[in-house]
Amino acid sequence: MKRAKIFCIGLSLLFLSHAAFATIPKPEEVLGFNIGTDRKVADMHQIVDYFAKLDKASERILVKEIGKTTMGNPFIVAFITSAENHKNLEKYRQYQQLLADARKITDEEAEEIISEGKAVVMINCSIHASEIGACQMSMELAYDLAAKNDKSTREILDNVILLLTPMHNPDGTQLVVDWYKKNLGTKYEGSPMPWLYHKYVGHDNNRDWYMFTQVESRLTIKVHNAWHPQVILDMHQTGRTGARIFVPPFVDPYEPNIDPILRQQVAMMGTFIASEMTGEGKAGVIHSNRYDAWTPARAYHHYHGGIRILTEVASIKLATPLTIKFKDFAAYVKEPSVKMPMPWKGGRWALRDIVDYDYSAAKATLTNAAKLRENWLRNFYRIHKKAVNRKEPPFAYIIPDKQKDLSTTIKMMNVLQMGEVEIHRASESFAADGHEYPEGTYIVFLAQPYGGFAKALLENQVYPAIREYPGAPLKTPYDVVAHTLPLLMGVEAIRINDPFQAKSVKVDKLSRPRGKIDAVDNAFGYAWGHDTNDDIVALNRLVKKGYSISWASENFSAKGKKYPAGTMIVQNKKGLVEDLKSVASDLGVHFEGILAKPEIKAYALNPVRLGLYKSWDASMDEGWTRWVLEQYEFAYKSIHNKEIKKGDLNENFDVIIFPDLRTSTIINGISEESIPPEYSGGIGEIGVKNIKEFIQKGGTLITLNSAADFALKQFSLAIENSVEKVDRKTFFVPGSLLKVSIERNHPIAYGCEAEGAVFFRRSPVLAVKEGKSIVAYPAHNPLLSGWINGEDYFYNKSALVDVTLGEGRIIIIGFPVLYRGQSHSTFRLLFNSIYYGATSLGEL
Ligand SMILES: [Zn+2]
Repeated sequence: MKRAKIFCIGLSLLFLSHAAFATIPKPEEVLGFNIGTDRKVADMHQIVDYFAKLDKASERILVKEIGKTTMGNPFIVAFITSAENHKNLEKYRQYQQLLADARKITDEEAEEIISEGKAVVMINCSIHASEIGACQMSMELAYDLAAKNDKSTREILDNVILLLTPMHNPDGTQLVVDWYKKNLGTKYEGSPMPWLYHKYVGHDNNRDWYMFTQVESRLTIKVHNAWHPQVILDMHQTGRTGARIFVPPFVDPYEPNIDPILRQQVAMMGTFIASEMTGEGKAGVIHSNRYDAWTPARAYHHYHGGIRILTEVASIKLATPLTIKFKDFAAYVKEPSVKMPMPWKGGRWALRDIVDYDYSAAKATLTNAAKLRENWLRNFYRIHKKAVNRKEPPFAYIIPDKQKDLSTTIKMMNVLQMGEVEIHRASESFAADGHEYPEGTYIVFLAQPYGGFAKALLENQVYPAIREYPGAPLKTPYDVVAHTLPLLMGVEAIRINDPFQAKSVKVDKLSRPRGKIDAVDNAFGYAWGHDTNDDIVALNRLVKKGYSISWASENFSAKGKKYPAGTMIVQNKKGLVEDLKSVASDLGVHFEGILAKPEIKAYALNPVRLGLYKSWDASMDEGWTRWVLEQYEFAYKSIHNKEIKKGDLNENFDVIIFPDLRTSTIINGISEESIPPEYSGGIGEIGVKNIKEFIQKGGTLITLNSAADFALKQFSLAIENSVEKVDRKTFFVPGSLLKVSIERNHPIAYGCEAEGAVFFRRSPVLAVKEGKSIVAYPAHNPLLSGWINGEDYFYNKSALVDVTLGEGRIIIIGFPVLYRGQSHSTFRLLFNSIYYGATSLGEL
């Protein structure tokens, strides 16, 4: 009897599943190979195509194109849940919105939603495109969820809404697969790609989760903010000789604004995945190792009610298998430990293994979310309820509406708003912490759902001193440690500790201030400031139109008004006023008419023939430099080794930038053993000679951050890097914001304040016996935000030097001046250097 019943159920299931299977295409039927086969990888087009087919064939899968990527490819997300849930998708999305804002519902209403709602899981695959396993796996996962009808699949489909991003960097997936296929079967199979796998930012695409500079970040945030997933699984790959997979818990420290509930959930999910995988017999699963949770640059979700589960699976040579011997393993994975009770024994490691590990991690994540659906939703609600009921100081941050660079201030507030931070504007004056603030002041109250995100980005970071035992060396951070937007962007933001009352309204859209032109008849020309980054965009636009423009090198007066050195002056010409009007309205720049020609010396500004060195050892800083130059409308040309080796650089360039690169990379590049000959090598000794000749004949070389070393050594300058030979235990500043003083009368520093902040990471500290120091560290601890060890190495040293060589100059900018597109307050030091590098002082 019992037997017969089971049989019946079995038959009916078989029948049902057969019907479902009939129409849903298997990955191998579409791709022509089994996923995870050695040396076989699906590219972006194939993956998009496969998901389109699933969308058509399955009621459980809805594939949406969220937008276009940087290179114009489709950025897709697959919404996967039961057919029944799909009918009510919008209702479930609304539930998420309500649970995310405890001001809108009561505890009783929350409980009703919790019992009815679905856990939302987001899985992001292969943001680092060469970490290709996850995007291949995504097709297998989607197929199984579409086609299978077993108990665990149904449990997931009924309880979870999965937002699956099969490729988190579609452009990169295509680039790396094309490169891999091109070299397949040659000596260079699996060789590194000579360009970035994101057009501008390469690997840093996963460091953009609070600044949202790149298109793909913005598209992801759009989905995230619409759905507020409780669980986000970010699938990566790492080195070859360590553990087979890392899962959380993370190691200390957590960034202090991340809710403790969330931290516990990260640990719980991580160890659940670890136990499931170990249960399946998968060896080498490690947790609580290496990766911390300090920077929001990798974890938007931690400030938005969702846990970030990072997985890092051991890599191969893209899809080419490796044999790894136990003796070659990193020491920490050889013996069983609490973190990894079942070490891997070594042997063959192939794409199929990576896909299997990724699949298991994804499946375990979904299983946990399904089984503990209510717990996830309840804690999600609790996190947001705590956030809106926040009582501890600070109470708010105030952002005055009178700022040196209002347009950049608005960009900063736009960033906060993209992270769903609510910004208010005072409709009358008010007092806070004993000071009076006028109407129009912006206020960020911290008792709001994403107050923690705002606080993390507005406050100065204090990275903790962690020692394994008393007297042990300080634990050095895993990643950068400072992310204070007001310091990075040059914006004044004031921390207010005590509660205050202010009449204010929430502002939804902040737009750039409108500029204006004070036109005068028979003007000699028009003057505008040098205070905002948009002032320099205005310069670029007008220079491109062929107007005669200068920087005043000294103070002057016109119409009774005093103008400082650095003021930009454009001489009058037919059509100018119309052009100024258009620039003013677009950029918020204020042009003032000048009747008579000021009797001053000035720097004449012409279109600069700018070259940006592009190594085949692809550099993220080179990419970020391209990105910022384009955003601020600088014309440039990339220069490769070949052109530098050819010489006669003055024929084509006034200014050449060497981005943050090591000297050995610039001179020697990558060896022919590792990369095809057309991309091997660097500029060589001949290139060094040609660069020197370029400078001596009047050209300007600008070196960024660690590329300072190239200039110091190759041209035997009397400038030293004081920390070059100092070990990490004595000196380490892993991405902090430091105080500097600035020679603001020097053209490179026009528009700067006398004091400022620079981002410091893998940077030199310059002891200057030659040239002019423009930016200098103080004679005391320069730390403003982050972490510093070895502060006395900075005392009175320089961060930016202008040196002449023959008829030209070298401008050594010894810090990341454009740091990941974030350090708006120092952008102008590079912008000015570009123009300064191609001009000289003369009569106006
Ligand atoms: Zn990665």
